[in-house]
Amino acid sequence: MSPPTVAVWKFASCDGCQLTIIDCEDELLAIAAALDIRMFLEAGPSELLDHYDISFVEGSVTTAHDAERLRDVRARSGLLVTIGACATSGGIQALRNTADVGAFTAAVYARPDWISTLATSTPIADHVKVDLELRGCPISKEVLLATITALLAGRRPPVTSHSVCVECKQAGNPCVLVAHGAPCLGPVTHGAFVGLLHQHHVAFQHRLLVASARRRRPMSMPSAWRGTHTGSAMTSCCATCDCSTPLRRCSTTGHNVSH
Ligand code: SF4
Ligand code: SF4
Repeated sequence: MSPPTVAVWKFASCDGCQLTIIDCEDELLAIAAALDIRMFLEAGPSELLDHYDISFVEGSVTTAHDAERLRDVRARSGLLVTIGACATSGGIQALRNTADVGAFTAAVYARPDWISTLATSTPIADHVKVDLELRGCPISKEVLLATITALLAGRRPPVTSHSVCVECKQAGNPCVLVAHGAPCLGPVTHGAFVGLLHQHHVAFQHRLLVASARRRRPMSMPSAWRGTHTGSAMTSCCATCDCSTPLRRCSTTGHNVSH
């Protein structure tokens, strides 16, 4: 079976999350071998297909044309994965949501009457069904790689809804907030299984090539990880396989698992 076809789409954004994909320097050749990337204007490909197995969407909706184009992207996509704060929450441009967008355009543009824009910047999920959200500004390269690996293997991506505090305590760190009264943004920062993702990074190329060799297409979202991005807890030991067992040492990677 051929590799899954992939598209990367841009809406209102700075392109930083797309650059995170290109920034996967050591893994880029493995990604290119495992995925059939047909649409990715930032990197070159621009083949408009009726259907892509996976669409990665960056940016928010800020114009009526955006909203119309997004519905077309959704219709062409099997899995739709939003990448970055712009796509998942509206981004910095959502500052307009509580301000006068007319005053902004008048302050920035010489001819504000030429500007056609909505009064709000809204996340992709406000307009179409989203299968998975990768948060961050920009997204984490490690989370992206782990997600691609999981999609190729047909298992649940290692995306969680908890804060950094959970990982901090899992790693056995003393809390600087409690112990020293020092400020910490951990409670309001989305976690990403940082420790586990280090293991993903180490073993990434091997597993990506194995998944590619199996040529398994993620034609639909497995019910096992449906809702992952909205809060269901991850139960696999390290998300490398589907064993869901709290192993001390992963039988696939050989790495120790700390929980
Ligand atoms: S989430 Fe951040 S890095 Fe990504 S496109 Fe938006 S502003 Fe740029
Ligand atoms: S507040 Fe900071 S130091 Fe304390 S548990 Fe959360 S992330 Fe860790």
